[in-house]
Amino acid sequence: NGLKKYFPIKSGLFSRTVGQVKAVDDISFSIRKGETFGLVGESGSGKSTVGKTILRLTDKTDGTVTFKGIDLHTLQPEELRKLRPQMQLIFQDPYSSLNPRVRIGDAIGEALLDHGLVPQAEVRDRVLEVLEACGLSSYHIDRFPHEFSGGQRQRVGIARALALDPELIIADEPVSALDVSIQAQIINLFRKMQDTKGLTYLFISHDLSVVEHLCSRIGVMYLGSMMETAPRDELFRNPLHPYTKALLSAVPIPIPKLKRERIVLSGELPSPANPPAGCKFHTRCPFAVARCKEEKPEFRHVGSDHYVACHLV
Ligand code: SF4
Ligand code: MG
Repeated sequence: NGLKKYFPIKSGLFSRTVGQVKAVDDISFSIRKGETFGLVGESGSGKSTVGKTILRLTDKTDGTVTFKGIDLHTLQPEELRKLRPQMQLIFQDPYSSLNPRVRIGDAIGEALLDHGLVPQAEVRDRVLEVLEACGLSSYHIDRFPHEFSGGQRQRVGIARALALDPELIIADEPVSALDVSIQAQIINLFRKMQDTKGLTYLFISHDLSVVEHLCSRIGVMYLGSMMETAPRDELFRNPLHPYTKALLSAVPIPIPKLKRERIVLSGELPSPANPPAGCKFHTRCPFAVARCKEEKPEFRHVGSDHYVACHLV
């Protein structure tokens, strides 16, 4: 609620703060139990920072993050540690978060022991169980990260998160580095895990066609602001924000009668250190009017679970 994350820009010999990057600039949304909320936007829109700030892997600048009624950013470190297993992050490249000298089974087992979730004697069984649930086997348990393909590594990343029996998984571009055929397998694995374990996901992606297959609701970010949120079908059938329309117009759709005009955005993505005044999208918006340059549009409820920030809607 009202979440902000600003990073200082330092310069010179004494690292004086000369400005700030408003990576997340006053956004509010909810993720409901058991759903998959897709967060989309171009790189640099602040999606990853939202994910990390929710998990309190980085401090917020302002706003609140509430998980099951608990304000995460006011918790003492020990209380936060106890909640950690319930909220897991899956990265784009799990390889970067795996120690190359530690066998996969040990890497997963270590997290279980760290949190005291399973007695030592049962760790291996538990690790094997999650590996199998993720389409790997006992063959993989004593292998090193470099022995795995990209798709297998992402299965390991998912297994490691699942081992802790989380309720919320934040997956940051988890399939973006994979071939399209492997992407489909991993997305199916995400879906299967949700069905069997009742997981809740925040699924971060720059790719709307990936999000379409998995998400029940979608939020569209631009330069640190939320531009639109809506249930998936509503967003795809009735996008209201010009930025969402432009993103969607680039996604091929198989239904000819839904054919859309391709909207090509002009100009570069402005710097989040110096975002445009008024509506942040006005420098690229084909529909901008004078008011857009001065007045920031409110994020308003416009109909069945549909929110949008645009003066023209
Ligand atoms: Fe475009 Fe104005 Fe709407 Fe912003 S508020 S999206 S500039 S029409
Ligand atoms: Mg990112």
